[in-house]
Amino acid sequence: MFNKNRLRIAMQNKGRLSQDSIQLLIQCGIKINLKKQQLISFSENMPIDVMRVRDDDIPGLVMDKVVDLGIVGENVLQEEKLKRQSRLEKCFYTILQHLDFGICRLSLSIPYRHKYIGIQSFKNSCIATSYPFLLRKYFNDQGINFKFFILNGSVEVAPGVGLSNAICDLISTGATLEENRLQEVEVIHSSRACLISQFGGYVNNEKIILINKLITRIKGVIKARGSKYIMLHAPSSKLEEVITLLQGAERPTISKLAGDTNKVAMHMVSSETLFWETMEKLKALGASSILVLPIEKMME
Ligand code: ATP
Ligand code: MG
Repeated sequence: MFNKNRLRIAMQNKGRLSQDSIQLLIQCGIKINLKKQQLISFSENMPIDVMRVRDDDIPGLVMDKVVDLGIVGENVLQEEKLKRQSRLEKCFYTILQHLDFGICRLSLSIPYRHKYIGIQSFKNSCIATSYPFLLRKYFNDQGINFKFFILNGSVEVAPGVGLSNAICDLISTGATLEENRLQEVEVIHSSRACLISQFGGYVNNEKIILINKLITRIKGVIKARGSKYIMLHAPSSKLEEVITLLQGAERPTISKLAGDTNKVAMHMVSSETLFWETMEKLKALGASSILVLPIEKMME
């Protein structure tokens, strides 16, 4: 059973977001003993409980205050919001933090063999989707009539078997579309995973402190994942040219090299990775011992 004094987080049980969600908590220093068949897992080192469920249930669990936080795709969140609004049900939540995984888009796609002549092509057509509310909002805003067909999986096969003229589905690389000879023609929603909470109303101050601590750690993890630590030896005479090549890097720390007055050691954090091309240019300037290291944690 959940203890209401502990912070409750809902995340996807099995699916595209589950590994990244759990990895994020681990990188934030939360130790959780996850058991496969267990709905609720307890952290050993922090007052945090994790509930692993289907992603569609996460926004509702947060909005209904069953859990304090949820990690879910914005697509699922928006769909639940539109569904609740259409039923005049309560729908309070806050996006606390956008995350760096689950990046995808909800798009309209049609068979290759059909020529696309703009959004009017969809007039009175039948579209298969798992996201009827997002789809309906998109076409209502454009004033276009259409019909939809709900499929909760394998949406991409619908046009091929004659169930629909088009599909509205999530895409990340586009490989599944290609396999099914479909072309993406309109993006209706861009999505990534996010951390959501109930809308305000925290009575338990300790939970707010813990949530803020967690957000700071999550920000640090995301920043560290997108950053690199760069070390190199650069000719003292070419310092400015070397610095100009390192776009995205903070001003470097420069220190002397024992026994070599022509070169200095440079250390810096960069928000971009160092591409081979840049490393080759650095080498051409006379730089040596160029190292690019991953950063595990960061706090600003
Ligand atoms: P569940 O059984 O939990 O309901 P699901 O089948 O609905 O799972 P998944 O396919 O695991 O969901 O996708 C979960 C989320 O991952 C999506 O809602 C979306 O936010 C994100 N995602 C990222 N890339 C893609 C993609 N290419 N296709 C589908 N979802 C993606
Ligand atoms: Mg789902």
